[in-house]
Amino acid sequence: MIGHGVTDFYTVQDATPDADGLIELVLIPLPDLVIFPKMVTPLFIHRERDLQAISEAQDTQQTLLGVAQRQLNLDTPEPGELYTVGTEMAVGRLIHMPDGGASVLVQGRRRVDIVEFTQTSPCYRVKARPLSEPASDSREITALMRATVNLFQKCIQLNPQLPEEAYIYALNIEDPGWLADLIASTVSLRVRERQELLQAIDPVERLRRASNLLGRELEMLELEEHIQMQVRQEMDRSQREMFLREQMRVIQHELGEMDIFQQEISELRERIEAGDLPDEVQDKALKELGRLVMIPPMAPEVGVIHTYLNWLLDLPWQKTSEDNLDLDNAARVLDAEHYGLPKAKERILEHMAVRRLAPDKMRSPILCFVGPPGTGKTSLGKSIASALGREFVRVSLGGVRDEAEIRGHRRTYIGALPGRIIQTMRRAGTVNPVFMLDEIDKLGIDFRGDPAAALLEVLDPEQNFAYSDHYLDVNYDLSKVLFITTANYLDPIPPALLDRMEVIEFPGYIEEEKLSIARQFLIPRQLEQHGLSDQRIRFDDNAIRTICREYTYEAGVRNLEREIAKVCRKLARRVAEEKSILKRVTPQSLDKYLGPPQFIPPLAEEEDEIGVATGLAWTEAGGDIMAIEVSLMPGKGALTLTGQLGDVMQESAQAALSYTRSRARQLNIAPDEFDQLDIHVHLPEGAIPKDGPSAGITLATALISALTQRKVRRTVAMTGEITLRGRVLPVGGVREKILTAHRNGIATVLLPRRNGKDLQEIPKRTLRDMNIVFVAHMDEVLEQALLPVRHETHVSLPGSDGVSVAGKDDVSQKS
Ligand code: ADP
Repeated sequence: MIGHGVTDFYTVQDATPDADGLIELVLIPLPDLVIFPKMVTPLFIHRERDLQAISEAQDTQQTLLGVAQRQLNLDTPEPGELYTVGTEMAVGRLIHMPDGGASVLVQGRRRVDIVEFTQTSPCYRVKARPLSEPASDSREITALMRATVNLFQKCIQLNPQLPEEAYIYALNIEDPGWLADLIASTVSLRVRERQELLQAIDPVERLRRASNLLGRELEMLELEEHIQMQVRQEMDRSQREMFLREQMRVIQHELGEMDIFQQEISELRERIEAGDLPDEVQDKALKELGRLVMIPPMAPEVGVIHTYLNWLLDLPWQKTSEDNLDLDNAARVLDAEHYGLPKAKERILEHMAVRRLAPDKMRSPILCFVGPPGTGKTSLGKSIASALGREFVRVSLGGVRDEAEIRGHRRTYIGALPGRIIQTMRRAGTVNPVFMLDEIDKLGIDFRGDPAAALLEVLDPEQNFAYSDHYLDVNYDLSKVLFITTANYLDPIPPALLDRMEVIEFPGYIEEEKLSIARQFLIPRQLEQHGLSDQRIRFDDNAIRTICREYTYEAGVRNLEREIAKVCRKLARRVAEEKSILKRVTPQSLDKYLGPPQFIPPLAEEEDEIGVATGLAWTEAGGDIMAIEVSLMPGKGALTLTGQLGDVMQESAQAALSYTRSRARQLNIAPDEFDQLDIHVHLPEGAIPKDGPSAGITLATALISALTQRKVRRTVAMTGEITLRGRVLPVGGVREKILTAHRNGIATVLLPRRNGKDLQEIPKRTLRDMNIVFVAHMDEVLEQALLPVRHETHVSLPGSDGVSVAGKDDVSQKS
């Protein structure tokens, strides 16, 4: 500290020298500082000895000698451990501190050199010689002083700890020694360096040293500044970002956007906390919300997180609709909406009964409704839901090839969404809907994974309480859902899936059933939908039958309903135009409403033919009849098959041929005929692929008819697999096949004997109209199907005139 105010000091007089020019002074050791003449500094005193020294000096109104210790941390330094040059100081008032120490202001007065110690206790006393400085004045000194002051100024600028007044003070100093002392006491130096400056008596020399030290200090300060600047730049960049962000926030706030964003966030928080989310899901939602708060409202993730949270919040997690397990009511609802379908209805009522008895133990069954289109699978599903009082939802799996469609995409994908199962659950709004998975037989598999595998998890009661959707990322409980799958065929359903389901067949309807469905359900519904309920319009039974027979060709009633709707539309238009209408819909009037008939029964052959046999097939639409044609031509024994036949059917044809060859003699066929003929088997209406072994006996019949030139009875249709020995094996789809035969006006159906039990499923009325003949061997088939006599228009076999045809070339087909 620099001071001039000396009024506070007790001692302002320097000690008076004795005859030898020595002065006697009390000495105080200075542990870590050096005091320079003219400088005012506070001293903090803790040592008893030092307090003694100060009081002694004060008592005698004397100056004090301050001498630096050679070692900083010595408590009671011996005389030898002190420097020999010190500073005579004036002492100010002693101020006692609460901690027992004291402080005192001292002002340096002049340099002295210790000559001897005269007292060591209770404090040191010494005899010392004041050191006088040689006078100096030259231009060089002025230049040195100016340069030093410049350096000093720079140091002060760089070091905020140095007081700025020190520079002004330095400017006004004219004595180089004094300037050196000022620098020595202000700039940060080591005690040893300061002491060296104190000992340098020649002021010019001292100033030069001080200037050097100042230069070194400046370098240090500049380096420090440089480092700080780098650090500051780093910090500045991040601070700048923060600053800009903050500004953006303020702007958004001003624009009201922030308020909206904040409001949305607090709304979301409320919904998350109030919703029925399970704990795990709630945690997840809050975590995501935490992320949302952190990012600026403009960031693209905001939308992503927002959508995700909405999905979590919109899904039903616990909301359950209460089941109505009143069996009478359920039976009433099911019957009121659907005709027939006893098996399916019974199964549902059974399920409900068990639920009533053991409400919690029961796992929901997974039902699979199998049958041709339009047989009421979907609409029964809806009725089941309404009977139980549950929501009904439905999702179609037709053409789903990608596992992600079922299970969703991970959220890292742009535009990711949950899979269809979760989407549908959101639509359901409760955790226990009746959930219909349509067209499970039309699932595809390709490189994007196997959707059936995902479905396995959905339909497995052991796993589906923790179903994982990729998007959702938290498990979802599907165990309370009543799943119903539908399919037209069982074959394409992966066995692992089929294994988990209880199959209920929805066979096609016969005409009488269709009639009842139309009268009870379809016609009233369509009349109502077309606003014709109060017009008293009546459909004649025969009109409905005609629609079934001539305008539709189906196992279900979907097209029937569509045709009825068409009639209603035409009638509604006339009513709207206020024209008169006929209140009765008769077979004759159908032409007017529906145009000319589209299907003309019977579809069976019109005449008995050679080489053409009628088979019964089972297709997606229910049953179908198909004519199998065989034509022979000169050749080398080749067998050609056309008409989109599957592998199994090709093998069937081979088997039929082998059987025929092996029985050639009994059938009156010359054995060598086979080597001279090419055989062409064709199934018309080739666009529909056909497969399965059940055409075996039909193929054999057509072949044998062609080879033996015996006509096939046109009223006979057949189905059955054939073995090489001619045994007839049972086949599937008997009900559909017989209903088709009936629809097509076929009188006699040849059925494998072991299919006898299947007739139970066929309405008696149908069976009454038909002649069902059971066959166990091909001989019986031929006996029933072929006319006994060989046809007269025998065309000579190969060898005679080069052209020979067996059977009729122009095989007439379904007209
Ligand atoms: P699927 O799902 O089997 O293809 P739908 O359930 O869509 O068939 O049925 C088609 C139409 O036929 C629906 O309007 C349905 O109400 C009606 N339907 C089918 N079977 C019956 C039935 N047994 N009783 C009453 N209506 C029926």
